[in-house]
Amino acid sequence: MEKLSLVVAMYNEEAMASYFLEVLSATLDEISDFEKEIIIVNDGSSDKTLEILRAAQQKYKDLKIVSLSRNFGHEAAIAAGLNIASGDAIIPLDGDLQDPPYLIPLMLEKYREGYDVVNAKRAKRKGDTLFKKWTASAFYKLIDSLSGKVKVPQNVGHYRLISRRVLNEVIKLNDYVRVFRVEVPFVGFKTCEITFERGNRTLGKTHYNIKAMTDLAVDAIVSTSIEPLKLITNWTIGFAIVFLLSVVALIITFSVDVSLEYHLIATPYYVLWLALEIVYLLFIIIMIALSIMSQYLGRTYLEAQKRPFYVIDKIFENKK
Ligand code: UDP
Ligand code: MG
Repeated sequence: MEKLSLVVAMYNEEAMASYFLEVLSATLDEISDFEKEIIIVNDGSSDKTLEILRAAQQKYKDLKIVSLSRNFGHEAAIAAGLNIASGDAIIPLDGDLQDPPYLIPLMLEKYREGYDVVNAKRAKRKGDTLFKKWTASAFYKLIDSLSGKVKVPQNVGHYRLISRRVLNEVIKLNDYVRVFRVEVPFVGFKTCEITFERGNRTLGKTHYNIKAMTDLAVDAIVSTSIEPLKLITNWTIGFAIVFLLSVVALIITFSVDVSLEYHLIATPYYVLWLALEIVYLLFIIIMIALSIMSQYLGRTYLEAQKRPFYVIDKIFENKK
């Protein structure tokens, strides 16, 4: 029988933990054609989360608890859980029921149809502030536009089903900064989406403030793309074009003025203009130096990341 792993990170979720397990296991009980394991990573909680989970282990035999030595953050905690998940199908989800377990059977249905990735897309962000809706949509658009050939799905967080081979490829990405939601699309494979309405947290409170959200967005962009570094080169080209035009303008104005003996513009102004052009030229030289450095920095970053440059899905071959 195939095995299903649920991977959950919890940080100070004493208000939610028992209720979460109750709802999750009620759903899991209805799935009979999979072995199941629930892996909860206690991300250095300072409240009673760990005690509650330990007690729950009496009741839920498939519950495995991984307790980290301190708080490492959501992404690191999920990565820790994924590393020890042993399932054929793996689903990471938040421990506050904002990722509703009722989607699990629907994801499994798609998995049985042969999909390696089933994204749970947040169709409506009910209860989110306008600010969060707006920043989230801007974030997903920006990351998608920067990520080149990688198609980053919009409004998909951790919650998705991935097959064993997708997880193996994700684990192989050895990035220090982990951002699961951009790693899965990087790896690829046959992907589909199901949509759901993401509700509010019922108990406890969010751990993501504006700073944490900004950090996540920056991590996602920097770990996926060196496009921002290439901007420096584009700006340099733009500035250089403006510089050349201004030099041409200077030469034309000056020669017309002198040859026709208009002397409309007093010489000191030409001297000032010339001085500005020299300063501008020095600025361009610095920009060119920065562009060269950014090109090498980008390469160095990619080399340091050492991501695979392709992932094979299948090899088709005639039998000899
Ligand atoms: N979480 C974690 N470590 C942290 C912060 C959050 O493991 O440092 C967990 C948290 O317990 C929850 C999940 O990550 O299960 C999502 O966090 P939260 O609900 O606070 O985020 P939001 O849904 O508001 O984006
Ligand atoms: Mg939440």
